[in-house]
Amino acid sequence: MKTDRTYDAAIIGGGIGGCAAALRAVQNNMTVLLFTGSKESRKRSRSQWVYNIDNMIGFHEGVIKDQVLNDLRRGGHDAAADLVAGEHYHINNRDIIANTLHRMRADYGHLIDIEEEDCQSLQRREDGSFIVTGKERSFTTVAVVLATGIMDEQPVVPMEDRGGEISMSSRPIYPFANRESLIYCIRCEGHLTRDDAVAVIGGSPTAAELTLMLFERYGNQVYLLTHGAEPPGTDDYRKLTKAYGIRIITEPITEFSGRQVGDLCCVRFAEHEEIFVKFGLVALGIHRVYNDLARQVGAQLHAEEVPPERRQIVINHKGESSVPGLFVVGDAGRRRDEITMKQIYTAQEYAVRAVDTIDYRRRKARRRLLLADR
Ligand SMILES: Cc1cc2nc3c(=O)[nH]c(=O)nc-3n(C[C@H](O)[C@H](O)[C@H](O)COP(=O)(O)OP(=O)(O)OC[C@H]3O[C@@H](n4cnc5c(N)ncnc54)[C@H](O)[C@@H]3O)c2cc1C
Repeated sequence: MKTDRTYDAAIIGGGIGGCAAALRAVQNNMTVLLFTGSKESRKRSRSQWVYNIDNMIGFHEGVIKDQVLNDLRRGGHDAAADLVAGEHYHINNRDIIANTLHRMRADYGHLIDIEEEDCQSLQRREDGSFIVTGKERSFTTVAVVLATGIMDEQPVVPMEDRGGEISMSSRPIYPFANRESLIYCIRCEGHLTRDDAVAVIGGSPTAAELTLMLFERYGNQVYLLTHGAEPPGTDDYRKLTKAYGIRIITEPITEFSGRQVGDLCCVRFAEHEEIFVKFGLVALGIHRVYNDLARQVGAQLHAEEVPPERRQIVINHKGESSVPGLFVVGDAGRRRDEITMKQIYTAQEYAVRAVDTIDYRRRKARRRLLLADR
Protein backbone atom coordinates (compact mmCIF):
# COMPACT_ATOMS: atom_id res chain seq x y z
CA MET A 1 0.00 0.00 0.00
CA LYS A 2 2.76 2.49 1.06
CA THR A 3 0.88 5.76 1.08
CA ASP A 4 1.56 9.31 2.23
CA ARG A 5 -2.00 9.62 3.50
CA THR A 6 -2.75 9.35 7.17
CA TYR A 7 -3.18 5.79 8.46
CA ASP A 8 -6.17 4.96 10.65
CA ALA A 9 -3.79 3.28 13.10
CA ALA A 10 -0.08 2.71 13.55
CA ILE A 11 0.64 -0.40 15.56
CA ILE A 12 4.04 -0.55 17.21
CA GLY A 13 5.26 -4.01 18.27
CA GLY A 14 4.88 -7.25 16.36
CA GLY A 15 4.37 -9.59 19.31
CA ILE A 16 1.08 -10.97 20.53
CA GLY A 17 -0.64 -7.66 21.34
CA GLY A 18 0.56 -5.93 18.17
CA CYS A 19 -0.40 -8.79 15.84
CA ALA A 20 -3.82 -9.13 17.49
CA ALA A 21 -4.37 -5.37 17.12
CA ALA A 22 -3.25 -5.34 13.48
CA LEU A 23 -5.49 -8.27 12.58
CA ARG A 24 -8.53 -6.69 14.27
CA ALA A 25 -7.80 -3.38 12.50
CA VAL A 26 -7.56 -4.80 8.96
CA GLN A 27 -10.61 -6.94 9.64
CA ASN A 28 -12.38 -3.64 10.52
CA ASN A 29 -11.24 -2.39 7.07
CA MET A 30 -8.89 0.17 8.61
CA THR A 31 -5.60 1.25 7.04
CA VAL A 32 -2.71 0.10 9.19
CA LEU A 33 1.01 0.65 9.56
CA LEU A 34 2.63 -2.13 11.60
CA PHE A 35 6.15 -1.87 13.00
CA THR A 36 6.95 -5.47 13.88
CA GLY A 37 10.20 -4.58 15.67
CA SER A 38 13.79 -5.51 14.83
CA LYS A 39 15.61 -8.79 15.44
CA GLU A 40 17.22 -7.17 18.51
CA SER A 41 13.99 -6.00 20.13
CA ARG A 42 12.37 -9.37 19.36
CA LYS A 43 15.18 -11.12 21.20
CA ARG A 44 14.50 -8.92 24.22
CA SER A 45 10.75 -9.61 24.17
CA ARG A 46 8.70 -12.11 26.21
CA SER A 47 7.22 -13.53 23.01
CA GLN A 48 10.43 -15.31 22.24
CA TRP A 49 10.46 -17.32 25.47
CA VAL A 50 7.20 -19.14 25.05
CA TYR A 51 7.86 -22.81 24.32
CA ASN A 52 4.39 -24.30 24.28
CA ILE A 53 1.02 -22.65 24.84
CA ASP A 54 -1.55 -24.80 26.58
CA ASN A 55 -3.53 -22.48 28.84
CA MET A 56 -6.01 -21.44 26.14
CA ILE A 57 -8.80 -23.43 24.63
CA GLY A 58 -8.17 -23.98 20.94
CA PHE A 59 -4.40 -23.75 21.29
CA HIS A 60 -3.73 -27.42 21.36
CA GLU A 61 -2.06 -29.69 18.86
CA GLY A 62 -4.99 -32.13 19.10
CA VAL A 63 -7.38 -29.71 17.37
CA ILE A 64 -5.70 -30.21 13.99
CA LYS A 65 -3.67 -33.35 14.66
CA ASP A 66 -6.73 -35.53 15.19
CA GLN A 67 -8.22 -34.35 11.88
CA VAL A 68 -4.96 -34.99 10.04
CA LEU A 69 -4.67 -38.46 11.61
CA ASN A 70 -8.25 -39.30 10.57
CA ASP A 71 -7.56 -38.16 6.98
CA LEU A 72 -4.28 -40.09 6.77
CA ARG A 73 -5.76 -43.30 8.20
CA ARG A 74 -8.84 -43.02 5.97
CA GLY A 75 -6.54 -42.62 2.94
CA GLY A 76 -4.51 -45.69 3.98
CA HIS A 77 -1.34 -43.68 4.76
CA ASP A 78 -0.58 -45.55 7.97
CA ALA A 79 3.16 -44.91 7.96
CA ALA A 80 2.58 -41.14 7.66
CA ALA A 81 -0.13 -41.34 10.35
CA ASP A 82 2.27 -43.09 12.74
CA LEU A 83 4.87 -40.41 12.10
CA VAL A 84 2.38 -37.60 12.81
CA ALA A 85 1.02 -39.40 15.90
CA GLY A 86 4.52 -39.66 17.37
CA GLU A 87 5.35 -35.97 17.01
CA HIS A 88 4.51 -33.21 19.50
CA TYR A 89 3.36 -30.13 17.65
CA HIS A 90 4.14 -27.29 20.05
CA ILE A 91 2.34 -24.05 19.43
CA ASN A 92 4.36 -21.06 20.53
CA ASN A 93 4.20 -17.29 20.13
CA ARG A 94 6.55 -17.32 17.15
CA ASP A 95 4.18 -19.65 15.28
CA ILE A 96 1.17 -17.47 16.07
CA ILE A 97 2.98 -14.31 15.01
CA ALA A 98 4.32 -15.82 11.76
CA ASN A 99 0.87 -17.17 10.92
CA THR A 100 -0.87 -13.83 11.63
CA LEU A 101 1.64 -11.87 9.53
CA HIS A 102 1.24 -14.35 6.70
CA ARG A 103 -2.56 -14.09 6.82
CA MET A 104 -2.50 -10.29 6.87
CA ARG A 105 -0.08 -10.11 3.94
CA ALA A 106 -2.13 -12.61 1.94
CA ASP A 107 -5.65 -11.37 2.68
CA TYR A 108 -5.30 -7.68 3.61
CA GLY A 109 -2.18 -6.54 1.74
CA HIS A 110 -4.16 -3.57 0.33
CA LEU A 111 -4.78 -2.25 3.86
CA ILE A 112 -1.55 -2.89 5.73
CA ASP A 113 2.07 -1.77 5.42
CA ILE A 114 4.54 -3.77 7.49
CA GLU A 115 7.87 -2.29 8.54
CA GLU A 116 10.18 -4.98 9.91
CA GLU A 117 12.09 -2.63 12.19
CA ASP A 118 11.76 -0.69 15.43
CA CYS A 119 9.82 2.52 15.58
CA GLN A 120 12.37 5.12 16.69
CA SER A 121 10.20 8.02 17.75
CA LEU A 122 6.66 9.13 18.40
CA GLN A 123 5.32 12.67 18.31
CA ARG A 124 1.82 14.01 18.87
CA ARG A 125 0.71 16.85 16.65
CA GLU A 126 -1.50 19.75 17.66
CA ASP A 127 -4.48 18.32 15.79
CA GLY A 128 -4.22 15.13 17.91
CA SER A 129 -2.72 12.93 15.17
CA PHE A 130 0.73 11.33 15.51
CA ILE A 131 3.98 11.13 13.57
CA VAL A 132 5.73 7.77 13.87
CA THR A 133 9.28 7.49 12.63
CA GLY A 134 11.23 4.41 11.61
CA LYS A 135 14.88 4.21 10.58
CA GLU A 136 14.42 6.32 7.50
CA ARG A 137 10.82 7.41 7.06
CA SER A 138 8.09 9.15 9.01
CA PHE A 139 4.38 8.46 8.72
CA THR A 140 1.25 10.14 10.04
CA THR A 141 -1.54 8.30 11.79
CA VAL A 142 -4.78 9.15 13.54
CA ALA A 143 -4.13 6.76 16.43
CA VAL A 144 -1.33 4.61 17.83
CA VAL A 145 -1.45 1.20 19.47
CA LEU A 146 1.72 0.52 21.43
CA ALA A 147 2.49 -3.16 22.08
CA THR A 148 6.19 -3.14 22.85
CA GLY A 149 6.03 -5.47 25.87
CA ILE A 150 8.24 -5.97 28.92
CA MET A 151 11.06 -8.21 30.13
CA ASP A 152 11.09 -10.14 33.40
CA GLU A 153 13.88 -9.81 35.94
CA GLN A 154 16.04 -12.94 35.73
CA PRO A 155 17.96 -14.69 38.49
CA VAL A 156 21.72 -14.23 38.20
CA VAL A 157 24.11 -16.97 39.27
CA PRO A 158 27.90 -17.38 39.09
CA MET A 159 29.17 -18.23 35.60
CA GLU A 160 32.72 -19.17 34.65
CA ASP A 161 34.00 -17.91 31.30
CA ARG A 162 36.58 -19.66 29.11
CA GLY A 163 39.45 -17.92 30.89
CA GLY A 164 38.22 -19.18 34.28
CA GLU A 165 36.85 -15.75 35.31
CA ILE A 166 33.68 -15.92 37.37
CA SER A 167 30.96 -13.32 37.01
CA MET A 168 27.27 -13.12 37.91
CA SER A 169 25.06 -13.77 34.90
CA SER A 170 21.55 -14.80 33.90
CA ARG A 171 22.90 -16.76 30.91
CA PRO A 172 23.06 -20.15 32.69
CA ILE A 173 19.28 -20.03 33.18
CA TYR A 174 18.37 -19.59 29.48
CA PRO A 175 18.33 -23.30 28.53
CA PHE A 176 15.90 -23.96 31.42
CA ALA A 177 13.69 -21.03 30.46
CA ASN A 178 13.68 -22.14 26.82
CA ARG A 179 12.46 -25.61 27.83
CA GLU A 180 9.79 -24.47 30.30
CA SER A 181 11.69 -25.85 33.30
CA LEU A 182 11.97 -22.30 34.55
CA ILE A 183 8.55 -20.72 34.17
CA TYR A 184 7.38 -17.15 34.54
CA CYS A 185 3.64 -17.16 34.91
CA ILE A 186 1.38 -19.23 37.13
CA ARG A 187 -1.60 -18.87 34.76
CA CYS A 188 0.47 -19.97 31.76
CA GLU A 189 2.43 -22.89 33.14
CA GLY A 190 1.64 -23.31 36.85
CA HIS A 191 -0.46 -26.40 36.05
CA LEU A 192 2.64 -28.17 34.67
CA THR A 193 4.02 -28.39 38.22
CA ARG A 194 1.05 -30.22 39.72
CA ASP A 195 2.81 -33.59 40.25
CA ASP A 196 6.31 -32.31 40.98
CA ALA A 197 8.42 -30.30 43.35
CA VAL A 198 8.65 -26.62 42.43
CA ALA A 199 10.75 -23.70 43.66
CA VAL A 200 9.41 -20.15 43.51
CA ILE A 201 12.34 -17.75 43.06
CA GLY A 202 11.87 -14.33 44.64
CA GLY A 203 11.62 -12.57 47.97
CA SER A 204 8.60 -10.32 47.45
CA PRO A 205 5.10 -10.74 48.90
CA THR A 206 4.00 -11.77 45.38
CA ALA A 207 6.54 -14.60 45.32
CA ALA A 208 5.37 -15.69 48.78
CA GLU A 209 1.74 -15.64 47.67
CA LEU A 210 2.66 -17.81 44.65
CA THR A 211 4.08 -20.50 46.97
CA LEU A 212 0.75 -20.62 48.83
CA MET A 213 -1.26 -20.70 45.60
CA LEU A 214 0.78 -23.56 44.17
CA PHE A 215 0.39 -25.68 47.28
CA GLU A 216 -3.31 -24.87 47.68
CA ARG A 217 -3.96 -25.80 44.03
CA TYR A 218 -1.77 -28.85 43.61
CA GLY A 219 -0.65 -29.99 47.08
CA ASN A 220 2.89 -30.45 45.76
CA GLN A 221 6.26 -29.85 47.44
CA VAL A 222 6.90 -26.12 47.21
CA TYR A 223 10.03 -24.12 48.10
CA LEU A 224 10.54 -20.37 48.34
CA LEU A 225 14.07 -19.45 47.26
CA THR A 226 14.53 -15.79 48.11
CA HIS A 227 17.98 -15.73 46.49
CA GLY A 228 19.51 -13.58 49.22
CA ALA A 229 16.45 -11.47 50.07
CA GLU A 230 14.64 -11.50 53.42
CA PRO A 231 11.49 -13.63 53.24
CA PRO A 232 8.13 -11.93 53.87
CA GLY A 233 7.83 -12.02 57.65
CA THR A 234 4.10 -11.88 58.38
CA ASP A 235 2.72 -14.19 61.04
CA ASP A 236 0.09 -15.56 58.67
CA TYR A 237 2.71 -16.50 56.10
CA ARG A 238 4.85 -18.25 58.72
CA LYS A 239 1.83 -20.23 59.96
CA LEU A 240 0.70 -21.18 56.46
CA THR A 241 4.14 -22.26 55.23
CA LYS A 242 4.43 -24.45 58.33
CA ALA A 243 1.02 -26.00 57.74
CA TYR A 244 1.74 -26.56 54.02
CA GLY A 245 5.30 -27.83 54.48
CA ILE A 246 6.69 -25.03 52.28
CA ARG A 247 10.46 -24.72 52.79
CA ILE A 248 12.08 -21.29 52.67
CA ILE A 249 15.73 -20.96 51.69
CA THR A 250 17.24 -17.47 51.77
CA GLU A 251 20.78 -18.36 50.69
CA PRO A 252 21.76 -17.14 47.19
CA ILE A 253 21.45 -19.76 44.44
CA THR A 254 24.77 -20.82 42.93
CA GLU A 255 23.59 -23.23 40.24
CA PHE A 256 20.62 -24.57 38.34
CA SER A 257 21.44 -28.05 37.20
CA GLY A 258 19.74 -30.48 34.80
CA ARG A 259 20.03 -34.10 33.76
CA GLN A 260 19.69 -33.08 30.11
CA VAL A 261 19.95 -29.63 28.52
CA GLY A 262 17.16 -27.46 29.92
CA ASP A 263 15.65 -30.23 32.02
CA LEU A 264 15.89 -28.88 35.57
CA CYS A 265 16.46 -31.36 38.36
CA CYS A 266 18.32 -29.57 41.10
CA VAL A 267 19.16 -26.17 42.56
CA ARG A 268 22.40 -25.65 44.47
CA PHE A 269 23.55 -23.12 47.05
CA ALA A 270 26.95 -22.26 48.51
CA GLU A 271 26.33 -23.97 51.84
CA HIS A 272 22.80 -25.23 52.07
CA GLU A 273 22.18 -28.76 50.81
CA GLU A 274 20.95 -28.98 47.20
CA ILE A 275 17.23 -29.35 46.54
CA PHE A 276 15.58 -31.48 43.88
CA VAL A 277 12.83 -29.77 41.89
CA LYS A 278 11.48 -30.19 38.39
CA PHE A 279 10.32 -26.57 38.00
CA GLY A 280 11.37 -23.10 39.06
CA LEU A 281 8.83 -20.26 38.95
CA VAL A 282 10.70 -16.98 38.51
CA ALA A 283 8.92 -14.21 40.42
CA LEU A 284 11.48 -11.42 40.60
CA GLY A 285 9.28 -8.75 39.04
CA ILE A 286 9.74 -6.61 35.95
CA HIS A 287 13.23 -5.86 34.66
CA ARG A 288 12.24 -3.49 31.84
CA VAL A 289 9.10 -2.00 30.35
CA TYR A 290 9.64 -0.91 26.75
CA ASN A 291 7.87 2.40 27.40
CA ASP A 292 10.31 4.81 25.69
CA LEU A 293 7.86 5.88 22.98
CA ALA A 294 5.07 6.48 25.50
CA ARG A 295 7.48 8.57 27.58
CA GLN A 296 8.34 10.65 24.50
CA VAL A 297 4.73 11.88 24.37
CA GLY A 298 4.39 12.26 28.14
CA ALA A 299 2.07 9.31 28.87
CA GLN A 300 1.41 8.69 32.56
CA LEU A 301 3.31 5.77 34.09
CA HIS A 302 2.31 3.43 36.89
CA ALA A 303 4.14 2.93 40.25
CA GLU A 304 5.96 6.17 41.03
CA GLU A 305 8.32 4.38 43.44
CA VAL A 306 10.21 2.41 40.75
CA PRO A 307 12.63 3.75 38.09
CA PRO A 308 10.90 5.02 34.90
CA GLU A 309 12.24 2.16 32.74
CA ARG A 310 10.40 -0.35 34.96
CA ARG A 311 7.06 1.40 35.00
CA GLN A 312 4.10 0.12 33.00
CA ILE A 313 1.98 2.66 31.16
CA VAL A 314 -1.32 3.59 32.76
CA ILE A 315 -4.34 2.65 30.65
CA ASN A 316 -8.10 2.74 31.09
CA HIS A 317 -10.63 -0.02 30.34
CA LYS A 318 -10.35 0.71 26.59
CA GLY A 319 -6.57 0.39 26.70
CA GLU A 320 -6.12 4.15 26.17
CA SER A 321 -3.25 5.94 27.90
CA SER A 322 -3.39 9.43 29.41
CA VAL A 323 -2.49 10.73 25.92
CA PRO A 324 -5.70 10.73 23.85
CA GLY A 325 -5.35 8.46 20.80
CA LEU A 326 -2.39 6.53 22.24
CA PHE A 327 -3.45 3.03 23.25
CA VAL A 328 -1.26 0.45 25.00
CA VAL A 329 -2.01 -3.26 24.79
CA GLY A 330 -0.25 -6.35 26.13
CA ASP A 331 2.22 -6.51 28.99
CA ALA A 332 3.36 -2.86 28.80
CA GLY A 333 0.00 -1.43 29.91
CA ARG A 334 -1.55 -1.44 33.38
CA ARG A 335 -4.86 -0.27 34.72
CA ARG A 336 -5.04 1.61 38.00
CA ASP A 337 -8.46 0.26 38.97
CA GLU A 338 -7.76 -3.47 38.67
CA ILE A 339 -4.92 -5.89 38.02
CA THR A 340 -4.19 -6.25 34.32
CA MET A 341 -3.06 -9.78 33.60
CA LYS A 342 0.01 -10.49 31.49
CA GLN A 343 -1.06 -13.36 29.26
CA ILE A 344 -1.83 -13.94 25.61
CA TYR A 345 -5.58 -13.73 26.07
CA THR A 346 -5.31 -10.39 27.90
CA ALA A 347 -3.08 -8.92 25.18
CA GLN A 348 -5.60 -10.06 22.60
CA GLU A 349 -8.62 -8.77 24.52
CA TYR A 350 -7.11 -5.30 25.02
CA ALA A 351 -6.01 -5.23 21.38
CA VAL A 352 -9.65 -5.65 20.37
CA ARG A 353 -10.85 -3.09 22.95
CA ALA A 354 -8.32 -0.53 21.67
CA VAL A 355 -8.81 -1.05 17.95
CA ASP A 356 -12.59 -1.14 18.19
CA THR A 357 -12.47 2.16 20.09
CA ILE A 358 -10.35 3.70 17.31
CA ASP A 359 -12.80 2.32 14.76
CA TYR A 360 -15.78 3.65 16.72
CA ARG A 361 -14.29 7.17 16.74
CA ARG A 362 -13.45 6.93 13.04
CA ARG A 363 -17.03 5.94 12.18
CA LYS A 364 -18.49 8.61 14.51
CA ALA A 365 -16.39 11.29 12.80
CA ARG A 366 -17.62 10.12 9.41
CA ARG A 367 -21.24 10.24 10.57
CA ARG A 368 -20.76 13.75 11.95
CA LEU A 369 -19.34 14.96 8.63
CA LEU A 370 -22.16 13.39 6.67
CA LEU A 371 -24.86 14.81 8.93
CA ALA A 372 -23.26 18.28 8.89
CA ASP A 373 -23.61 18.30 5.07
CA ARG A 374 -27.35 17.54 5.10
C1 LIG B 1 8.53 -17.88 29.36
C2 LIG B 1 7.17 -17.32 29.12
C3 LIG B 1 6.15 -18.21 28.79
C4 LIG B 1 4.86 -17.71 28.58
N1 LIG B 1 3.89 -18.62 28.27
C5 LIG B 1 2.65 -18.16 28.08
C6 LIG B 1 1.61 -19.08 27.82
O1 LIG B 1 1.83 -20.30 27.73
N2 LIG B 1 0.36 -18.58 27.69
C7 LIG B 1 0.08 -17.24 27.81
O2 LIG B 1 -1.09 -16.87 27.73
N3 LIG B 1 1.06 -16.34 28.01
C8 LIG B 1 2.33 -16.76 28.16
N4 LIG B 1 3.31 -15.86 28.44
C9 LIG B 1 3.00 -14.43 28.42
C10 LIG B 1 2.94 -13.88 26.99
O3 LIG B 1 4.05 -14.32 26.24
C11 LIG B 1 2.90 -12.37 27.00
O4 LIG B 1 1.81 -11.95 27.80
C12 LIG B 1 2.74 -11.78 25.60
O5 LIG B 1 3.80 -12.16 24.76
C13 LIG B 1 2.69 -10.25 25.69
O6 LIG B 1 2.50 -9.72 24.42
P1 LIG B 1 3.02 -8.25 24.07
O7 LIG B 1 2.50 -7.94 22.71
O8 LIG B 1 2.74 -7.31 25.18
O9 LIG B 1 4.62 -8.34 24.05
P2 LIG B 1 5.56 -9.31 23.23
O10 LIG B 1 4.77 -10.45 22.73
O11 LIG B 1 6.72 -9.58 24.08
O12 LIG B 1 6.00 -8.45 21.96
C14 LIG B 1 6.68 -7.23 22.03
C15 LIG B 1 7.09 -6.89 20.61
O13 LIG B 1 7.40 -5.50 20.53
C16 LIG B 1 8.50 -5.34 19.64
N5 LIG B 1 9.11 -4.03 19.92
C17 LIG B 1 9.73 -3.61 21.05
N6 LIG B 1 10.14 -2.31 20.89
C18 LIG B 1 9.72 -1.93 19.66
C19 LIG B 1 9.81 -0.70 18.92
N7 LIG B 1 10.41 0.40 19.40
N8 LIG B 1 9.26 -0.66 17.66
C20 LIG B 1 8.64 -1.75 17.14
N9 LIG B 1 8.53 -2.92 17.81
C21 LIG B 1 9.07 -3.01 19.04
C22 LIG B 1 9.38 -6.53 19.91
O14 LIG B 1 10.22 -6.78 18.80
C23 LIG B 1 8.33 -7.63 20.11
O15 LIG B 1 8.03 -8.24 18.88
C24 LIG B 1 4.60 -16.31 28.67
C25 LIG B 1 5.65 -15.42 28.97
C26 LIG B 1 6.91 -15.92 29.20
C27 LIG B 1 8.02 -14.96 29.54
